[in-house]
This record gives sequence, structure tokens and C-alpha cells, in this order.
Amino acid sequence: MESTASADIIIVGGGIAGLVTANRAAQLGLKALVLEQGAEDKYLCNSRYTGGTLHLCLRDLMIDEAVMARTIVEITEGFVAVPLAEMLARDGRRIVQWLRDEGIKFIRASGAEHQKYVLAPPATLRPGLNWEGRGGDVMLRTLGANLEKRGGRVARATRARELIVKDGCCTGLIASRNGTDVRFDGSAVVLADGGFQGNSELVQRYICRRPERLKQRGAGTGRGDALLMAMAVGAATRGMDRFYGHMLSREAMTNEKLWPHPYLDSIVTAGIVVAPDGRRFVDEGISGVYVANAVAKLDDPLGVVAIFDQAIWDGPGRSGVVSANPNLPQVGGTVHVANDLISLARLAGLPGDALTATVHAYNEKIAAGAPQSLAPPRRISSFRAWPITQPPYYAVPVCAGITNTMGGVVVNEHAQAMRADGSIIDGLYAVGATTGGLEGGPAVGYVGGLAKGGITGLHAAEHIAAQRAG
Ligand SMILES: Cc1cc2nc3c(=O)[nH]c(=O)nc-3n(C[C@H](O)[C@H](O)[C@H](O)COP(=O)(O)OP(=O)(O)OC[C@H]3O[C@@H](n4cnc5c(N)ncnc54)[C@H](O)[C@@H]3O)c2cc1C
Repeated sequence: MESTASADIIIVGGGIAGLVTANRAAQLGLKALVLEQGAEDKYLCNSRYTGGTLHLCLRDLMIDEAVMARTIVEITEGFVAVPLAEMLARDGRRIVQWLRDEGIKFIRASGAEHQKYVLAPPATLRPGLNWEGRGGDVMLRTLGANLEKRGGRVARATRARELIVKDGCCTGLIASRNGTDVRFDGSAVVLADGGFQGNSELVQRYICRRPERLKQRGAGTGRGDALLMAMAVGAATRGMDRFYGHMLSREAMTNEKLWPHPYLDSIVTAGIVVAPDGRRFVDEGISGVYVANAVAKLDDPLGVVAIFDQAIWDGPGRSGVVSANPNLPQVGGTVHVANDLISLARLAGLPGDALTATVHAYNEKIAAGAPQSLAPPRRISSFRAWPITQPPYYAVPVCAGITNTMGGVVVNEHAQAMRADGSIIDGLYAVGATTGGLEGGPAVGYVGGLAKGGITGLHAAEHIAAQRAG
């Protein structure tokens, strides 16, 4: 062991969840130390790449708390326990105000309900990745500077790898720095490593057979270290097979201009997606996040094609943060266009008869107002099912982009890590994308990464401070 260091609270990861925890703890008089594996001043993470929209379930954070809590439970079809939904709903408005008090600025990016609180300056609306100087980047630099002013710090190039537990209580951890082990002692450890999407073995174990056929739609810096460390000391996990992500052009696998934007959820949820046999396999009307999860679980996640018509291309195709129309073809994404379905199938490499039968069956049920009798059924409560009747017809090869995993360490309302028997692991906390049980469920309900990270961070810090105060 090279050396040891100590602090009141040791935090693993310098994204929004880790830095909110650290600053709140420092405000409450604790000495906070953040360990960050990234060596760069502007180390990469999803909080730096983020689109920056603070929301819960794509709702305005200021709506009535009871309505918000109900929405979280409904959108996850009962997967999120009521006390956890209430915790998120209660503090949605507080995290906005707390970040404002830290000097973080928000803008209203559009008239959409969920875009009322977007980190400033907002991302530029063009294809590809651009984070430098945008909201997430500015937020991390502001929170990092505030932490230093409060006597805390971010120790970079330091990768946590093993928790120390004595008499059932977590008292620190071992991390690697420049190839050497360093021990950190503290009265509490907070895990905030951003999830396990960057660990293909874990993605294969929990999410899909072919992780190499998913597009990493984020920094990929969440490598499941926190999850593995927590499991090794008995923490329970929940919701491991779900992830937050979007549908992308298949060429996003190799073309940097095609991720994280434009994503194709608006055309996918308006039309249909088919497998290589030309048949539908998923309810497109639930959400783009749901479709991405279903695509990931196929034998070949890279064999899927979105099918739609001119009306969809001119309608939903023009919506979204960076719209598919006209950006997708402009930056090199394949868009097949044909005046009839047989020709379209030939261009897309699909069986013509099967595709034609699929589209006709879909159109018939939509016209009859019976989308639920399709196989698989099609919901219309969130997204209108557009008929595919107006030529020319379109086919876009797609893939699933994984941004961050939704499952992870089971926590209570104080963000304390729990064992499977419901007992608490004293001194161990999980926040942000390291947690499980705060989003997901049968319909892969997307609750929201930034708000979740900020709120759980506040709760962890406040509970640790209260425990110490006695
Ligand atoms: C393109 C894009 C757009 C998005 N848009 C939105 C949006 O508009 N609204 C929204 O709510 N969410 C959005 N998200 C998701 C959101 O950004 C994330 O859910 C959130 O930032 C996660 O925060 P976090 O602190 O949990 O993890 P991260 O930000 O990933 O931070 C985790 C940190 O832990 C570090 N780390 C990992 N392992 C170790 C280790 N062993 N030791 C030390 N450090 C470690 C990592 O290097 C990283 O810096 C978006 C994400 C992306 C990529």
C-alpha cells in the first residue's frame, strides 16, 4: 500500500451525483473527498456529455408532488417503490434551487414541459457530440470549484476498486493510482460511478447477449466498479436488465456524426420497426427507450429497420432535439426511399412479401382503431400510431444506443445501500446511475438521470451529516 488518506466522506465518481453529494456534505461541515478515475482536468463522464434537461419522467419538476410521485410509479408500472417515488418527487424543485444557489444557470429550451430547466448554455443543435463549454461541462467545473472553496477536492486518476468493511460497517476503500494501491478511510463511502454500461461483461450478463452490437451513446466511463464493490460486501441489486438509451442510425456504430444526435425515437414511435424477417417484434408505441431495450435483446441487435412513410418523415421526422429530417441523410445515415413496399424491401435487404404483409396488417388495425389486437400489440396512449400509406416509403437501418444502465445497488430514501434481507450496510451509500430501483420496470420507465443524481446526492450527504451529528 503506497499511502493512506482520510476524509469524513469518500465519494467514488465526479459526475453530477458525486459532486452534489460532496458539495452538500461540505456545506454541512464535512470534509469531502471525491475520487475520480479520469486523469484529465475535463475528465469525461455522462454528466459532461449530457443534454442537460432536468426533469422527472419528462414532466416539469415544479408540478404538484403527489402528481409527480404518482407519475413515477405509473410510468415504471409500479417498479419504483412509493417512498422512493415520493423522495424524488419532493426534491425535484429543491435540486433546481440548490444548483442555482451553487451558481448553475438554467434556460427554458422550448415550450415542452420537460425542457423548462436546461443547463446553460444548452447543447448546440447539430448532429454528433459537442459538450465543451456546454451546460454539463460548465456545471461540473462550477461544482468542482465550489468544492475546493469549501475545503474539499477531486482526486483525479484515482480508481476505486475495493470497499473496506469492518464489523458490518463500511469504513473506507482501496483505490489504484498510477498502478499503486492507496487506502482511503472515512466514516462513509458514497458510490457514484455512473453505472455499468461501459463494462461489456456485465452488459452481457444482465442486458443482452451481444454487447458489441450496441452503440455506446455516452462516455462509457461507468464500468460497473461500484456495483461489483457493493455486491462483494453484500449489497442487493435491482432492475439490472434495463437501460436508458435511444434508437440511432445503424451507422452510428462507425460514424461519429450520428450519435448522440440525431436519435430516431420520434420516427420509430410513429411508424414501425421490423426484424430481418420483415415482421414487427415490439410495441413501438411505449417509447423509444423501450424499443432500444427490446432491440438490444434480439439475437442480432444490428438487424433492425425502421419503416415509415412521407407523412411521418415530414411530421415526427422533423421533431426531436436534432431532428432526423433533414440531419440524418446530411451526415451520412442511410435512408432508403421507394415508391412501393416491394422495392423498399429490396433496398433494405428485407423479404418483400413479409414486409408488405406486416405494413398492411398494421395499417388495417390502425384504420380500424384496434392497435391492441396487433401482434405484438401497439399502444397509442403516449405516441400516435401513424398509418404507413403515403408514398414514397422509407426504410432506415437502426441500432440501439445505450447511454446508462438503470439498474444497480438497492437504496432506501437516504440513499443507503441495502442487503437483500432489507438491512442497511452502515456507512455505504449509492447515488445517481449507480442505484437500482429508481427507474425501469416492465415498460422501461425513464425517470431522468440528472435529477436522480442530484436528488440522491443531496439525500446521501444530509443523512451522513445527520448521523455524525448524532
Ligand atoms: C448524450 C447524453 C445526453 C443526456 N441527456 C440527458 C438529459 O437531458 N437529462 C437527463 O436527466 N439525463 C441525461 N443524460 C443522462 C445523464 O447525463 C446521466 O444519467 C447522469 O449524468 C449520470 O450522472 P452520474 O453522476 O450518476 O454519473 P456520471 O456522470 O457518469 O459520473 C460518474 C463518474 O464516476 C467516475 N468513475 C467510474 N468508475 C470509477 C471508479 N472506480 N473510481 C473513481 N471514479 C470512477 C467516472 O469516470 C465518471 O466521471 C444524458 C446522457 C448523455 C450521454
